Amino acid sequence: MSTGTVVLDSHIPEGPIEEKWDQHRFDVKLVNPANKRRFEVIVVGTGLAGAAAAASLGELGYRVKSFCFQDSPRRAHSIAAQGGINAAKNYKNDGDSVFRLFYDTVKGGDYRSREANVYRLAQLSLNIIDQCVAQGVPFAREYGGLLDTRSFGGAQVSRTFYARGQTGQQLLLGAYQALARQIHLGTVEMHPRTEMLDVVVKDGRAAGIVVRDLTTGEITSHSAHAVVLATGGYGNVFFLSTNAKGCNVTAAWRAHRRGALFANPCFTQIHPTCIPASDEFQSKLTLMSESLRNDGRIWVPQEFGDGRSPDQIPEGERDYFLERRYPAFGNLVPRDVASRAAKREVDAERGVGPLKNGVYLDFSGAIARLGADVIEERYGNLFQMYERITGEDPFAVPMRIYPAVHYTMGGLWVDYNLMTNVPGLYCLGEANFSDHGANRLGASALMQGLADGYFVLPATISDYLAPLLGEPVVPTDDPAFQEVERDVDDRVRGLLGVNGSRTVDWFHRELGKIMWDNCGMARSRESLEKALSEIPPLREEFHRDVRVLGENETLNQSLEKAGRVADFLEFGELLCYDALQREESCGGHFRVEHQTEDGEALRDDDNFSHVSAWEFQGVGQTETLHKEPLEFEYVHPSQRSYK
Ligand SMILES: Cc1cc2nc3c(=O)[nH]c(=O)nc-3n(C[C@H](O)[C@H](O)[C@H](O)COP(=O)(O)OP(=O)(O)OC[C@H]3O[C@@H](n4cnc5c(N)ncnc54)[C@H](O)[C@@H]3O)c2cc1C
Repeated sequence: MSTGTVVLDSHIPEGPIEEKWDQHRFDVKLVNPANKRRFEVIVVGTGLAGAAAAASLGELGYRVKSFCFQDSPRRAHSIAAQGGINAAKNYKNDGDSVFRLFYDTVKGGDYRSREANVYRLAQLSLNIIDQCVAQGVPFAREYGGLLDTRSFGGAQVSRTFYARGQTGQQLLLGAYQALARQIHLGTVEMHPRTEMLDVVVKDGRAAGIVVRDLTTGEITSHSAHAVVLATGGYGNVFFLSTNAKGCNVTAAWRAHRRGALFANPCFTQIHPTCIPASDEFQSKLTLMSESLRNDGRIWVPQEFGDGRSPDQIPEGERDYFLERRYPAFGNLVPRDVASRAAKREVDAERGVGPLKNGVYLDFSGAIARLGADVIEERYGNLFQMYERITGEDPFAVPMRIYPAVHYTMGGLWVDYNLMTNVPGLYCLGEANFSDHGANRLGASALMQGLADGYFVLPATISDYLAPLLGEPVVPTDDPAFQEVERDVDDRVRGLLGVNGSRTVDWFHRELGKIMWDNCGMARSRESLEKALSEIPPLREEFHRDVRVLGENETLNQSLEKAGRVADFLEFGELLCYDALQREESCGGHFRVEHQTEDGEALRDDDNFSHVSAWEFQGVGQTETLHKEPLEFEYVHPSQRSYK
């Protein structure tokens, strides 16, 4: 579909869904092995998506430059992932298949994702496990030596591979080893502690990036034949989230400002099992992995405001509300469904804990049935983490949990090749609008990031590069680079020069409050209009009154944060505007005006079965909407039911 200058073509291959990816790999143009070293590729981000991509491109022979803002690629936020990674291996012989994983993911995403992409993801899930095992990732194993699996929400099979509660860490170590090997071989040049602050586009193509050295403040340009962004999600626009504090939208937002479309920004995921906030000054929320819902049962006291300790409340006076409302899936309903159900109980004043802002996640039954040692083996580090944060021992008393912002399904729009609408600019992992539709199923982000990085991009990038053989990269003294460098420099100095009275965190917290109160777990026209009237004045105040301490020439985290919050203040407006335009409820996007009689999300397939891809028109200006229609040939949209 095309409007104005933007052409939105998803490039989904023709043919039966099972054959699309193989056929496509046969059809794409190739770069022969000896010519690969003649191409330079920039990869920004060293999480699972970026590290996998940089390592794989390096292994193929391309010359790669890899960037991250942490001091080591190993500290990318992927390291925090706890519960596991999905794959349709069917090791449990419980009826799983590529088609079932595809089906569950399309349904779980509330029919707002592309079928062809999701099918490919399910196919590649098999390769990912093999790849990671070959790297030595220590997945949990059963007594006989086979890889073990557990269940995650939105599925009735057991397909989640895991390494205790540290799956992300182990997978990232695997990807990092592969990356380190390429660094050693000289195919990948690593730039840690370097923040990308803009993309350079010349003659309509991505030509490179402009970065700031976070230890010296130096601003430099880097050119390449293609630029890959694997820069993670934007959940921190809500201030409080389960994401690492450094996660931000800057790379994607800057690319958006240079012409890349931003798709479905309002599709954010609220995770049901996080530790409830303990006061309003808290700056971070902690996830308790979804895997805990395998053995933990979620409940609240039946009686309003019941002040008894949980062990004093008899079985008959507890409401296991997920098991009651959704008997087929019980505690393993998808995240959006579980989150809304918990909110309903807390809103109805049945919340537990000192602030009455949680529900119980109780392991007493599982401990009695399996023994504390089995529970310890499965979730030991998660229990320890919970006890350190709350001072309560989950072996003795139930955990208290409440939903929190966790993942962002929206991101830069990409086609089947993972290329944005800006030729030569690719986007992978959580940063793209991805394969998860309006709601991601647990354990599917790691799968998608690794599929993108290890398998999809390495196969598709040659299609773009092959015709460029022999073309030099744009030199960094080209006026296109010089102009962007000046922009970046002005922005950085501008932030330092305001010298106002309020901290960066104050503005971030205010923005987060607007976002959560008006565009959080539930949204309405009224609340969204309120948010849209409050964000622009806050943004103006930020540029008038922010105080950034320190200087440019040394490590200055206040300055780093200021740039990121400035971008959140622009992006937050688009997120709310997207939520306002989408007059339906689907997955993580719950518009209170659109719900069924029993409070479930009510989609409007006639009018909203599309990807909303937004084109930047200037700060504070209404963006232009481009729609990519979604067609469902294999999984027919129906009212999602987990009953
Ligand atoms: C607590 C927690 C637990 C989770 N558990 C699971 C789980 O069990 N299973 C699952 O499937 N998913 C899980 N997820 C989700 C999953 O971890 C993430 O979606 C995924 O790891 C994102 O990977 P990524 O490579 O896209 O980005 P990230 O890992 O976030 O990496 C982003 C990279 O980009 C770099 N970067 C960003 N901006 C810039 C810039 N401007 N300049 C330079 N570098 C930049 C960063 O330095 C970093 O290297 C969890 C998420 C959280 C928060």
